[in-house]
Amino acid sequence: MGARIQGERIWLDGRMVPWDEARVHVLTHTLHYGLGVFEGIRCYRTDDGRSAVFRLPEHVRRLFESAHINLMSIPFSREVVTQAVIDSLRENGLAEGYIRPLAFIGDGVMGLNPADNPVRVAVVAWAWGKYLGEEGMERGIRCRVSSFTRHHVNAKMAKGKTCGDYVNSILAKREALLDGYDEAILLDATGLVAEASGENLFVVREGEIKTPPAANVLEGITRASVIEIARDKGMTVSEAPITRDELYVADEVFLTGTAAEVTPVREIDHRQVGAGRRGPITKALQDAFFDVVAGRNRKYDRWLSYV
Ligand code: PMP
Repeated sequence: MGARIQGERIWLDGRMVPWDEARVHVLTHTLHYGLGVFEGIRCYRTDDGRSAVFRLPEHVRRLFESAHINLMSIPFSREVVTQAVIDSLRENGLAEGYIRPLAFIGDGVMGLNPADNPVRVAVVAWAWGKYLGEEGMERGIRCRVSSFTRHHVNAKMAKGKTCGDYVNSILAKREALLDGYDEAILLDATGLVAEASGENLFVVREGEIKTPPAANVLEGITRASVIEIARDKGMTVSEAPITRDELYVADEVFLTGTAAEVTPVREIDHRQVGAGRRGPITKALQDAFFDVVAGRNRKYDRWLSYV
């Protein structure tokens, strides 16, 4: 699985450096304690032969909000980080790909108070195909409800995309993979459905679409986009609590995320979901999403930042 990512240049602390020189000291604070924030962004080739980053201002905004929640002050403006995303694509010759901005605390003092250690920023771009597999996008994937609980709402600051929070996601993801599934679905501390390890979750029942409220899940940018697209199509979407057994009796379940895009789920905990294949509403939203990112639907052109 997964070849080593390799490219030409990485944006680090305000300048482009050769790929293999983007290194950090072992006393990098974030490496020890996990206080860092990041984003995942995709750039798509559009039908007219150009390239566009999907919802770039929203991703940059969330990066700064994540930092703010964590009392980290990013020493660059939003404009500079935005340009770094675009430059990372250009400098690596990528017409499409995934972009990872990361703000982390550098070396200096140790201990839980990072004090005046510098906040450093890297932006890395690379080519990335379908996160949950080409086949999964068509057939649907198999999930298990994780034995790990999503952090309590007052432990995980859910509006932030914080590095350390992802230990919980990694535990759930690896457990699911070791058990022969493709992805993990996590319940929150009250037992309600939260989200997948790195995706938001939607269920469809009797034609109505439902997703857990954003209170204790990441306010996904793909989630918001899919909700808007669905409502524009006249579909009913509500943000309401979802129980574990609602997953089992749903007609359709799908996941959304920058990496996972819109991925159907065909089975959960050995229960077939609906007809056991990608459902019609999932397919309609998936098609609509791919039309939007490829610039085929002018209505959502405001979501595209052309490179
Ligand atoms: N939940 C979690 C835990 C995630 O890591 C992600 C990926 N960023 C998402 C949901 C989906 O968010 P987005 O659509 O903004 O990528």
